[in-house]
Amino acid sequence: MVIVDSLRCCYCGGCVSVCPVDALTLAETRLVVNENCTECENCVFACPVGALYLEGRAPNPRASTLKPRYDVVVVGAGPGGAMAAYTAAQAGLDVLLIEKRQEIGSPVRCAEGVGHDQLVQFIEPDARWIAAEISRVEITARVNDNARTWHAGGGRGYILERRVFDRVLAERAARAGASVRVKTAATGVIREDGRVRGLKIHDGTRKVEIETSIVIAADGVEAQVGRWAGLDTQLPLRDTMVCAQFLLAGIEIDPTCTYYTISEEFAPGGYVWIFPKGEGKANVGLGVQADLPRRADPIELLTRFIETQPNLARGHAVTLVVGNVPVALPPARLVGDGVMLVGDAARQVDPLTGGGIINAMIAGRLAAQVAAEAIAARDTSANFLARYAEAWRKARGSKMERNYRLREKFPPAQRTDERFVHAFMLATK
Ligand SMILES: Cc1cc2nc3c(=O)[nH]c(=O)nc-3n(C[C@H](O)[C@H](O)[C@H](O)COP(=O)(O)OP(=O)(O)OC[C@H]3O[C@@H](n4cnc5c(N)ncnc54)[C@H](O)[C@@H]3O)c2cc1C
Repeated sequence: MVIVDSLRCCYCGGCVSVCPVDALTLAETRLVVNENCTECENCVFACPVGALYLEGRAPNPRASTLKPRYDVVVVGAGPGGAMAAYTAAQAGLDVLLIEKRQEIGSPVRCAEGVGHDQLVQFIEPDARWIAAEISRVEITARVNDNARTWHAGGGRGYILERRVFDRVLAERAARAGASVRVKTAATGVIREDGRVRGLKIHDGTRKVEIETSIVIAADGVEAQVGRWAGLDTQLPLRDTMVCAQFLLAGIEIDPTCTYYTISEEFAPGGYVWIFPKGEGKANVGLGVQADLPRRADPIELLTRFIETQPNLARGHAVTLVVGNVPVALPPARLVGDGVMLVGDAARQVDPLTGGGIINAMIAGRLAAQVAAEAIAARDTSANFLARYAEAWRKARGSKMERNYRLREKFPPAQRTDERFVHAFMLATK
């Protein structure tokens, strides 16, 4: 039977088309070989990346283009990682930014909403990655038959095309001098006497080990790098929002307004969102608190919600997005010797709204600034890097902790309370 190297495979499906016995199936990003395989090797010759081979005939790995050492290695090319790599490269450091997926920004796991004032601290809005400009917010809080709606204007915001936005941020990091590698995954950390001094990496064809002064772990909700480095990043189930979203096309919607519905029926412990993405289109999704009982899985709850909305019900779901959002307190330690956590990996999302793009960018910038200072001072100990944890606390961390407490104070059944909705509304800006 033919063997699939899943770290090399880029899921193009070419092998399926040349198989004479229907032995291959591409299930999204998983290539499966079944017992029909006759080992004819058609697929082996058709594979552009050498991901298929017969037992004992694994292709030689390509020569690695990675250097043996960098000042800083950033794991994960989301907004947090790209911002960290950009800032560190601008500070003159030798930076490597690695992303395990083959396309930065894809697949999208986001509703893509950001506030104008927050965004422009980092980058000028650009039509290439702005899908809609927002000027109004409508929030409905519904518990049993009790529903109230609040309107707010004046808050300017955007719905992004994250697929492009994330890539543009990574391109900017590259222009500033960072080396950017896709299809390159961190698979472990190298520790010596408890301090991180490098990373184990699979670069698409081979395993390599590289040394670095500092690892910035911006690996998103998975947060494995921190865990490998000895930091406790495990996410409590009750602090996890389980989300599903459709990009609905062919709907009627105000293209300048974002809609939120806090609803126990459709989104226990969370809310439903409708974020317009240009004329006749919107990201329509919901998040539910993972540990609460629910009547159905999030996709079904979302489908049922859409059926209740005449303006959405006739739409067509042209994209499905699923993902989890950490709405947690940060880990006890954001840094260790030679390692810093950034963005979702550091649970820096707003616990009220689940918004984390801007927070990840703020944290990425702060982490890289402290990394540059630490390298200049030749001290990359946890003690020195704690300056980053302190800077984060001052910039956003205290506010995120306040929002976490507020979430705790108002259990789902009490979220029609004026005080909760007011705080929620502020957090959407
Ligand atoms: C359904 C949903 C809707 C959301 N809506 C919004 C919203 O409207 N507004 C908002 O502000 N936020 C929203 N968020 C949250 C937002 O998407 C995240 O907070 C944000 O993307 C965090 O950025 P990040 O850089 O920390 O991580 P990510 O964007 O998750 O990037 C992490 C990257 O690390 C890579 N990676 C992981 N492990 C490895 C490894 N071992 N080696 C190499 N690379 C690795 C991943 O492939 C990924 O590309 C939403 C999230 C979800 C799930």
